[in-house]
Amino acid sequence: MNIAFLNGSYLPLEEARISPLDRGFLFGDGIYEVVPSYGGKMVGFAPHIQRMNDGLDAIGIKFDWSESDWGDLCNQLIKKNGSGNLGIYLHVTRGADSKRFHGFSENITPTVFAFAFEIAPAPVADKTLAKKFKVSSSKDLRWDRCQIKSTSLLGNVLHFQQGQDQGNDETLLFNADNQLTEASSCNAYIVKDSVVITPPLDNQLLPGITRQILLDILRNDGSIKVEERPVSMHEVKNADEVWITSSSKEIGAVVEIDGLPVGNGEVGDIWLAAQTLYSAAKHNY
Ligand code: PMP
Repeated sequence: MNIAFLNGSYLPLEEARISPLDRGFLFGDGIYEVVPSYGGKMVGFAPHIQRMNDGLDAIGIKFDWSESDWGDLCNQLIKKNGSGNLGIYLHVTRGADSKRFHGFSENITPTVFAFAFEIAPAPVADKTLAKKFKVSSSKDLRWDRCQIKSTSLLGNVLHFQQGQDQGNDETLLFNADNQLTEASSCNAYIVKDSVVITPPLDNQLLPGITRQILLDILRNDGSIKVEERPVSMHEVKNADEVWITSSSKEIGAVVEIDGLPVGNGEVGDIWLAAQTLYSAAKHNY
């Protein structure tokens, strides 16, 4: 049975009910997080909660749970749902109002919802076992506040589906200047001449926690050079390797973009080195 949390109570997920006037339901007016947990050990718990608080601040939802309140909730969900490989989904909306109205009402109580879902086992640093991602590319048609992890995900959903409809796993997104932003549900990177290059954090992309942890691990190790700078479409097409990262995928090796091979079309050596370092150090975060 999948045990969820809603507004202070633990209950079976299928019994959880919200008001149709919840602003999360009507407007996508909320913030969410997904924290990965393997064998009962979460990866990046503190930065995930920090990003959630940043998002709540950015959209003016006053919600003052401490890191330890969130920690208790996550640990309860792990306990109640078995300590396998879980994505812990955390979600706070502005709450249910008495009418549908765009403006924020002062006196509504935020809705807090959380549940755990099974995720694939963590990837292992082995080229023969690595999933080979094939992606589409597209102009990024989302909004100008992509740094906020909003539950309003329609822009991302449509870009993700665009890739799926073309038989691909994801969609790489490019801004009006043909610079890489991210993918519909992942951050994006190229590797050229053994240097890992990823777009800098700004309003065009989510500050991914896997990105944060990966860049920290690579910089601490020092054997692979890292650059945060704009990446052109030309550079993506001529990269030796292309990667996507997210909490559940860790580092995904992209071997094909729009049907054309990336580099030699195989999982790369720098991917292997980076995933090896990530697998070894991720539980320090
Ligand atoms: N960008 C977008 C648009 C995302 O939805 C996600 C999370 N699925 C990411 C990047 C990666 O973020 P994280 O590493 O924190 O999972």
